[in-house]
Amino acid sequence: MTDKTSSHHAGGCQCGAVRFELKGDPRFVSNCHCLSCRKATSAAFSTWVGFRNEQVNWEATTPNFYASSSGVKRGFCSTCGTPLSYAGPDWDGETHFLIGAFDHPITFSPRIEVFTEDALPWALGRKVSNDQ
Ligand SMILES: [Zn+2]
Ligand SMILES: [Zn+2]
Repeated sequence: MTDKTSSHHAGGCQCGAVRFELKGDPRFVSNCHCLSCRKATSAAFSTWVGFRNEQVNWEATTPNFYASSSGVKRGFCSTCGTPLSYAGPDWDGETHFLIGAFDHPITFSPRIEVFTEDALPWALGRKVSNDQ
C-alpha cells in the first residue's frame, strides 16, 4: 500500500518568483478546451491538475489574480506572466494548476476531455484517429 498523504508535488512560474507546493494526490487531471482557458493561456487547450484548497501552499510570492468571469480567479506571475492556476465558483474549495507549471509534469496524465464542443478539431486528434 502506498501512503498517499506522503506525496508532494511542486512547481512554479518561468522566472521562479511564484512557487507552490501541493500535498497529496490530485482529484483529477483533465484537458479543458473551453474558450476562456484558451484565451487565458494562449494555448489550444489546457491540461489542469485539480487539488483541494487545503492541499495548496503558495510559497514566498503569491500570484496575481485575474477574474476572467465573475467569481473566477486565474493566478499568474506578475513578473514573467506565466499562467498558473484557476479557482472558480463551479469548483468550490478547489484550485486547479496548469500541468506545465509543475517541476515534474510527467507525474500526471489527463483522464478526461472537457468542453470538447469548443475544441479545435485537431486538438482531439487521438479521438479522430480512433474513429478511422
Ligand atoms: Zn514568474
Ligand atoms: Zn477551461
